[in-house]
Amino acid sequence: AKEHGRNRFAFYSSEMADRAMERLYIEQGLLRAIADEQFVLNYQPVVRLEDGQLLGFEALIRWDEPTHGRIEPDRFIPVAEESGLIDYIGSWVLHTACAQANTWIAAGFTDLRLAVNVSARQMRAGDFDTIVRDTLAATGFPAAQLELEITESTLQSVDRSRELLGRLKALGVMISIDDFGTGFSSLSLLKHLPIDRIKIDRSFVQDLPDDANDVAVTEAIIAMAGSLGLALLAEGVETPAQQQFLRARGCADAQGYLYSKPLDVHDVDLLIASPSRG
Ligand code: C2E
Ligand code: CA
Ligand code: CA
Ligand code: CA
Repeated sequence: AKEHGRNRFAFYSSEMADRAMERLYIEQGLLRAIADEQFVLNYQPVVRLEDGQLLGFEALIRWDEPTHGRIEPDRFIPVAEESGLIDYIGSWVLHTACAQANTWIAAGFTDLRLAVNVSARQMRAGDFDTIVRDTLAATGFPAAQLELEITESTLQSVDRSRELLGRLKALGVMISIDDFGTGFSSLSLLKHLPIDRIKIDRSFVQDLPDDANDVAVTEAIIAMAGSLGLALLAEGVETPAQQQFLRARGCADAQGYLYSKPLDVHDVDLLIASPSRG
């Protein structure tokens, strides 16, 4: 047993060392990525569940590292958050997405909705509302068409959240709760904060309509959103059966591979130019 224990310790410690190395490695890489502008944005279509009409896009960051290729956000966003680099990267995302979406408004998609992810760390920075205000002013993007996606962990301190969200709402933007159901947020929290929409996390949508627990959770979230007057979006819709289930229960909007993967800018240009849009 002792032998076994030692081996296990060795296993964990080398895994931890690997993780520390990877973290360091990624952090160094992120500094270079910022200097050399190695980030790009993809845009995943958001649709109306009722008829599949295109409503807008969620901006999703990608890192094209010159020697290792594309690095997914789940690998580098946590490092960017821990190191504080997310403040810079997040501002870049906001500015770039607003500027790009403006070109699609100019191309005729006048009422598009643009969703941008905001990490808890950015919200804690204190001047986040100033950054949003300045970005809207610099790009001319219409505030009412911008949606900021925050997670439940951002809302931990209710009083501070209420104040900051209030200042953001005063700018005219919308607020969504991302990955809803995976964190901790009480009903009273949602009731007392100026939130416009909740996005049902993909983990609940994945096994609809067969998994009885997920059916119960999804129905509860939809009922709750209805009684609190919140708009709803289901994430990660991949099958017609999921679509049907959500549509029948009155979930308004959706995102997922059933409709489209995240697209690069060029593909969004083509989508918007195509006469069949909507
Ligand atoms: P998220 O905000 O929950 O974004 C949705 C993720 O689910 C995206 O992964 C998207 O590509 C993926 N997805 C969409 N539809 C489907 C589907 O039908 N099936 C499956 N299996 N997946 C689907 P992605 O782009 O790899 O982003 C991962 C996470 O990284 C995001 O999760 C978000 O938390 C974070 N992230 C991405 N871009 C940014 C950013 O600009 N700023 C911040 N702070 N975080 C970001
Ligand atoms: Ca999101
Ligand atoms: Ca999400
Ligand atoms: Ca997520």
